[in-house]
Formats: sequence, structure tokens, C-alpha cells
Amino acid sequence: MQEQYDFIIIGAGIVGSMVARWLSRYEGRILWIEKEADICMGATAANTAIVHAGYDTLPGTVKAEMNVRGNAMWDQLSEELDIPFERRGDYVVAVGEEELPALDELMRRGEANGVPGMKILEGEEVLRRDPNLNPKVSGALWATTGGICDPWQATLAAAENAVVNGVELRLNTEFEDFIMDGDRIVGIQTNQGEFYSRWVINSAGMYSDVVMHKAGIRPEFFITPRRGEYYVLDRADFTLNNVHFPVPSRISKGILVTTTLHGNTILGPNAEEIEDRTNAANTVTGLEEVWEGAKKLVPGLNPKHVIAIFAGLRPGGNAPTPDPEIDYSKDFIIEIPDAVQGFVNLGGIESPGLTSAPAIAERVVTLLQGAGEPLKEKTDWNPIRKARPVFRHLSKDEQAALIEEDPSYGRIICRCEYVTEGEILAEIHAPIPATTYDALKRRTWLGTGRCQGGFDMPRVTEILSEELGIDLLEVTKKGAGSEFLARPTKLVGVKGPLLSEKEV
Ligand SMILES: Cc1cc2nc3c(=O)[nH]c(=O)nc-3n(C[C@H](O)[C@H](O)[C@H](O)COP(=O)(O)OP(=O)(O)OC[C@H]3O[C@@H](n4cnc5c(N)ncnc54)[C@H](O)[C@@H]3O)c2cc1C
Repeated sequence: MQEQYDFIIIGAGIVGSMVARWLSRYEGRILWIEKEADICMGATAANTAIVHAGYDTLPGTVKAEMNVRGNAMWDQLSEELDIPFERRGDYVVAVGEEELPALDELMRRGEANGVPGMKILEGEEVLRRDPNLNPKVSGALWATTGGICDPWQATLAAAENAVVNGVELRLNTEFEDFIMDGDRIVGIQTNQGEFYSRWVINSAGMYSDVVMHKAGIRPEFFITPRRGEYYVLDRADFTLNNVHFPVPSRISKGILVTTTLHGNTILGPNAEEIEDRTNAANTVTGLEEVWEGAKKLVPGLNPKHVIAIFAGLRPGGNAPTPDPEIDYSKDFIIEIPDAVQGFVNLGGIESPGLTSAPAIAERVVTLLQGAGEPLKEKTDWNPIRKARPVFRHLSKDEQAALIEEDPSYGRIICRCEYVTEGEILAEIHAPIPATTYDALKRRTWLGTGRCQGGFDMPRVTEILSEELGIDLLEVTKKGAGSEFLARPTKLVGVKGPLLSEKEV
């Protein structure tokens, strides 16, 4: 039977999640597909987690508009979705007198973009606020609306809210091509079969160019992956309360030294254009560049405090802006193109895409309405999503009450981050079930501490096997092909539940 929808959304990063949530407010059948085994596995999984104020995007660009509007939407978002978000403000730190003019330029851009609450501070004041900084600091642009968020929580919460409001999410489902009727898109071909729809929304991130080219749109547009590498420091060894940017370069906002909502300091990212859209591996040269860049801001950094490294890939587009000299500020594409019917096209959503995602979703709705789509609000749409209990954030009394109610909250599985079995079980049975180790990591923060999963992984693997009713050998880190276990070892030659007849 032909599956007919009103909207199909391709891609489940922060942008797809916000679009799904915004559209779930209206009547209509919505299918949302993601090629990976979980949501939030693309650019949204590995970034700096800053809700940018909007002073570095070029005035007059769609990017600047989405940045400033998106930033303003995060307070309500955080309240409705019960997600952590802190407006701590951020600093662009000038080191040496020669960097000071760059602050004036950023201030001018911010004013042109309508960023409220910016101020230029003297070097002494900056050092008084953060004595960890380089003593050669000459001044800083302080933007009070800058914030920090948890991109994993934000994506999950928006996605969950969309699903609870009726959006059908299909994981492991890869878009392959459009089904056309003349110049009208009527559906999509995927690795899981055909699905028909009146509208298709492209939020495929790194592959957004591939998707739009299949529709014959913007053949000149292409994505260039720009890798950014990071260090994570142990919060027990080094803490910082602020977000520190250097003055930006032509190709990036520069290497930050910043706190996260979890209290860890992160250093990075650098910006390296590469060819392979899947190569998020760390490199010696990249890590050296990040370390040197970070030490320029905070000279006292100690490599002994590093507990993890990671890298993310920016889906950099080539849509022109008023200033071709600034590479990192190519524009976002957010449009309903004239050349085909039934297509909402989003492309080049690199930084500040996380910040901008709610504004992009809002713009998608406006574009659809402008195209004559009679979006009718549901009477029972619920914007509220409640987070599940996070054991380590509860008071002793609350913890005791939770254990009384459900003893699985009394069993600590991840010792570094204090994550309980109860939290893991809750995520495996949530509206968007966690079915892999990394999916649990993104939802509960397990495995992110000093031991990096060394202690919890065996037990988490067992829990996933038991709860999902799958063999231990089928439990994966992040989907098919990333199984932890190849075969039983100590049971060699013993036929039993773990060893098949063939393997004995
Ligand atoms: C190093 C780095 C630092 C950054 N720092 C910040 C920051 O501090 N603040 C900020 O605002 N922004 C930041 N960004 C930018 C931000 O992370 C991205 O703009 C944002 O995450 C993009 O979201 P997305 O949903 O468009 O893409 P993604 O998260 O990549 O999601 C796209 C999804 O589409 C899926 N997909 C692709 N092709 C198909 C297909 N054929 N079929 C089905 N599914 C498909 C992918 O699997 C993926 O899950 C940073 C990015 C990087 C890499």
C-alpha cells in the first residue's frame, strides 16, 4: 500500500528536530527519516555548544538574521522542553594591542545585526573577571546574550516532543532519490521503500547538496566538510566559568577555551577543509594547532588534564555573502525554490546552525504558509516535554525517594558521571528509545568522564542486550557495523546461549 504523508523531513540533527517539532503543531501526517541508527549523529553531535550572540555573522545575511532570532528563542525553548541552557555571556578576547581593532569591527557588526547587550572591556577588567587568561590581554568584546547549551539534550528533547505530538520517526532510513510528477515532488525513494508526500524538507546537513541536486536545485551549490578538533579537560583538574573566543580569522571564529554545561572545559575547534564527508578522526597536526591556539588565551593549560579528544565536521556551503573575503560566513540557504513544487530546501547550515535551529524551523513554517499551505493548528498540540530524572542533580532526599520508588536508581553504572541503571532503563524505554551505547551516552552523559566508558561499558552492553531482547554480540556502539563483541572468548568449545552450534 502506498504510504501518503503531508510532510517528509530528511535528517534528524538539531535542524530536522526543530522543524519536526514546529510542524507537529499543525494538522497533517509527518514522516521524519534519518539514515543513522539514532538522532543527533551528524554535525549536531560534535560542536562547541555555544548559543552565539550574533556579532560575527555578516550583516545582511540570512545567517545573521537566523542567529540573532534563534538566540532570542532559547529561553522559551529551554523552559518548554526542560533542557539546560545558560546565558552566561561570552568574551572575544584580544591579546596584544594589535588585536584591539578587531573588537570594534565585531561590535559594529553586532550592532548592525541587532545584537543587544554588547560592551567593550579594558584588558584589566577582563583579567579581573578571569585570571586564567593571558596577562597580555588588551581588551574584550563582552556579549551578554551569548549562551551555552547541551546540543544532545536539545536535539533529543525537540525530537521527543515532535514524536509525542504525532511525528513518525524512522531511523536507519536513507533518502536515495525523489519521485517526481513533472516538476512536482510527490515522494521519496529510500533504502526502506517509497514514501509519498505533498512536501519534502531537506535538512540533511552534510548531504544537503546531494539531496537538492537530486531535485535539480542549485547545481552550483556544494558542501565542503570543515573539520574541527577538540580537547576535553577533567573538571576535577581545571574549571573555567566563561566562554572565551579569540579574535576571529578569515576561515573560522577561532580556537576557544570555554566551559560546558557539564563543567568540563573544552578547547577547540580548528578549521581544516577536507574531502571526506565522514572523516571525523583526530589528527596530530590538528590537535597541536588547537593546543597552541588555546594556550594563546590560557597559557597555563596542562596536558595532564585532558581526558578526551573528539572532532566534528562543519557542513560548509558556498552560498555567497556581501563579503567574499570571509570564508566562514558563507550564507545559509532557506528557501522554497520556484523550479520544483513541494520542496523546502535548507543548505549550508554550518555554525551558528545550532543557535539558529529554532529560527530556521520558524522560517520553514512561514515559507510554507507563504506558499499557500493552509497550516491549521491542532487543538491538542502540547509544547511541553518533561526531562526524566537525572540522579546526580537531585538532593539526597530526592535520591532516596526515587530509589524507594524504583530500586534501579540505587545502582550506579557509570561511576565517573554518577549515572544509574534507572536512568539507562528510562532512556531505553523512552518515546525515542536509546538502542546503542552512544545513544545512551548522549541521553545520560554516561561514559564521558575520566575513564571514558572503561568501567560502565560492559554493564551497559548487558543491559542493552537484556532490555532490547538481542544477543550480546548484536549490541553496538552506534549502529550496524560497530558491534562491541566479535565472539565469546572464555566459552570456546562450550555450547550455550552465547555460542551457536556452528561456533562450538
Ligand atoms: C566543529 C563545529 C563547531 C560548531 N560549533 C557551533 C556552536 O558552538 N554553535 C552553533 O550554533 N553551531 C555550531 N556548529 C554548527 C552546528 O553544529 C551545525 O550547524 C548544526 O548542528 C547543523 O545541524 P543539522 O541538523 O543541519 O545537521 P546534522 O546534525 O549533520 O544533521 C543532518 C542529519 O541528516 C542525516 N542525513 C544526511 N543524509 C541523509 C539521507 N540521505 N537520508 C537520511 N538522513 C540523512 C544525517 O545522518 C544527520 O543526522 C558547529 C559545528 C561544528 C562541526
